[in-house]
Amino acid sequence: MVGARIKAMFEMKFPPLIDGHVHGLSVAGANTIPKLMDVINAKQAGIACQSDLNVTNDNPAGFVLKVRHPERFYVLAGLEHSGHLHNLESALSLSQQAHRLKEIGTDGIKLLASKPTERKRLCEPLDGPYFREFFSVCEELNLPLLWHVADPEEFWEYEKLPQWAKEKGWGYDRDFQSKEELYRETENVLRRHPRLCVVFPHVYFLSADLERAERFFSEFPNANFDLAPGIELYYNLSLSREKARDFFCRFSSRILFGTDILSCLSPGEARARAGIIYRFLTEKESFRVPEEADFLLGPPEDGIIHGLDLPEAVVKAVLQDNFRRLFGRSPEKLNVTAAREECLRLAGIEASVKSCPLEDTEGAKAEKILTQI
Ligand SMILES: [Zn+2]
Repeated sequence: MVGARIKAMFEMKFPPLIDGHVHGLSVAGANTIPKLMDVINAKQAGIACQSDLNVTNDNPAGFVLKVRHPERFYVLAGLEHSGHLHNLESALSLSQQAHRLKEIGTDGIKLLASKPTERKRLCEPLDGPYFREFFSVCEELNLPLLWHVADPEEFWEYEKLPQWAKEKGWGYDRDFQSKEELYRETENVLRRHPRLCVVFPHVYFLSADLERAERFFSEFPNANFDLAPGIELYYNLSLSREKARDFFCRFSSRILFGTDILSCLSPGEARARAGIIYRFLTEKESFRVPEEADFLLGPPEDGIIHGLDLPEAVVKAVLQDNFRRLFGRSPEKLNVTAAREECLRLAGIEASVKSCPLEDTEGAKAEKILTQI
């Protein structure tokens, strides 16, 4: 039985698709991403660059991917908070960073500041003064956001926390913002900036409450969801398959394919991630997480996923059309000079924060590659 499952996943053929949520992680990782995207037949992908509060962000790797594959990779750049956290002089405000990232030719911004761990560390409400001008600039410049808000509800209940999440330190006690506080801050921002275009990954962690998701979509017409696991979202939606199918059909223009594939995954793990999402959209059958799936998807014993068997037009919108509508038919062109400057700025921050030689930084490694283009 297990053998048959692995075989089915291994032989799976994906149609051409766009993966809107992929992580390059490092300049070295930028070599792996195109191969992983080939495995899942992703003709294009959105590289979501993480901010790392201890250092800067993954943007250098994103710039390298964009310059090497200008038609293939969109860059959703991360912010850096070194001015706020480390008091560094070379720091730029968030709105200055947004302007600079637009000039460099990034296609959007990845925002992680509403993930409970990051929100706690930054200690800045998203609807407060620290972020105010930044959101205005994104709205004005038409920079779409991939904005991670909250986490699965069980992360606030230690007894229900899955083992893999415990190991990542993702259980939240009272020292963290509640899920509702994070939603409140986010929705205040959306009310203030009605033209701001946002993709909320992981179904905005509302997969267990589709009525609320529907009210959210009705109130905020520029809000969208992506389907990147959180595997819990597939279990939640499977519990009310008919309701989920109806939701996907009615909001087919607002749901995007995304895998959260990391450059450190193996080709088999990448295939398993994308396969779960694609099978969920297209098949009638029920299935489990395959054995070869990565650690963050948990063991197959965790639950059963019921495919939605969606109409072809809905699947096509989710796999390709919606991403293109929000982020453009092809990626912005990288301004290499501006990207090099930014890499050097980030390299300076990294060297100073980590007390390491400049040439060992991600920024310096990327800048070297951009010089050779
Ligand atoms: Zn992600």
